[in-house]
Amino acid sequence: MQLIVQYKRDDRSPTPLNENVSKVMSSNRSKNTKPEKLLRQGLCSDGIRGYRLNWKKVPGKPDIAFPGRKIAIFVNGCYWHRCPICDLALPKTNKEFWKEKFEKNIARDKMSTKRLIDLGWVALTIWECEINADAMECVKKIRKIL
Ligand SMILES: [Zn+2]
Repeated sequence: MQLIVQYKRDDRSPTPLNENVSKVMSSNRSKNTKPEKLLRQGLCSDGIRGYRLNWKKVPGKPDIAFPGRKIAIFVNGCYWHRCPICDLALPKTNKEFWKEKFEKNIARDKMSTKRLIDLGWVALTIWECEINADAMECVKKIRKIL
């Protein structure tokens, strides 16, 4: 029997096999993810304001941007952006597909960072797991470069 794989939108992702995977997938590159909200709460409690969300005017559309100071913060989901700290396993099915997709994600992230730096920006990547472990520590990191 052959597994029929459907393709969603232009995403070219195989339809998730269960709801759990579906939830993870739909959180890919979306706005207002849980770690983002946590981090923003932290920024707020530290009195850090004046940033823009999903700033479209620069490469990579940073999740948090301080345009005046040319500082970009990327809040990366550990799964989709392949966090080096977590080093999560690849899905067992469609391994090759995912490997390629993740490699593209990583390449895109690198390219965005490089282009930002070329434009004189400072780019900081914060991983989901770092925020979950200690959001205020991440806020400290941001404060340091502000
Ligand atoms: Zn991680």
